[in-house]
Amino acid sequence: MTLDELKRTVSDLHAILPSQRLVAWTSGNISARVPGEQRMVIKPSGVPYESLTPASMCVVGLDDLEVEGGLKPSSDTATHAAIYRAMPEVGGIVHTHSAYATAFAALGREIPCVLTAMADEFGGPIPCGGFARIGGEEIGQEVVRVLTGHRSPATLMRNHGVFTIGPTPRDAVQAAVMCEDVARTVHHALQLGEPQPLAQEDIDALHERYTHVYGQ
Ligand SMILES: [Zn+2]
Repeated sequence: MTLDELKRTVSDLHAILPSQRLVAWTSGNISARVPGEQRMVIKPSGVPYESLTPASMCVVGLDDLEVEGGLKPSSDTATHAAIYRAMPEVGGIVHTHSAYATAFAALGREIPCVLTAMADEFGGPIPCGGFARIGGEEIGQEVVRVLTGHRSPATLMRNHGVFTIGPTPRDAVQAAVMCEDVARTVHHALQLGEPQPLAQEDIDALHERYTHVYGQ
């Protein structure tokens, strides 16, 4: 994939965030690692979703955060870069403040694994990392700490929102959509009573099947 194709991919994927009601106004962002390079493509800061184009995507160095081209990149740029530097297997990152998942983050609570869809996609609970201020690398370091060695491609960050990772930016978007979907269902379940936990062996079997057998 050329750099121009990657910019188009990242630009197009951003349309999913408002259409799935994961973001309000200009909050939220997606990035992709430029394969084999110490660079990433990321959303420009403060540009409305309907105005995003492939040409408006920012290309940023992972080590020096140097920006190629015109627009200022997302205020979460240092976070994304810190994750790519520490996790070479990650090819895409999504950040949102999607409502139901962020409600759990506001409580500093993980989303318990009480649905087969959660066992499938996340392999267990969706964890919640500690509080970190926006702007520097602290958030990225906390995301790396929580997700390293964890099956879940999504983590909540206390008092803030959701970060998801994937081998491709599309995988990270899928995780962000599924995270909000299960957060909504678990939220409703918690209003009705006590959600029933899944047995660890069932979680393991579901995750194994979904990861290796499911799909085309
Ligand atoms: Zn945020």
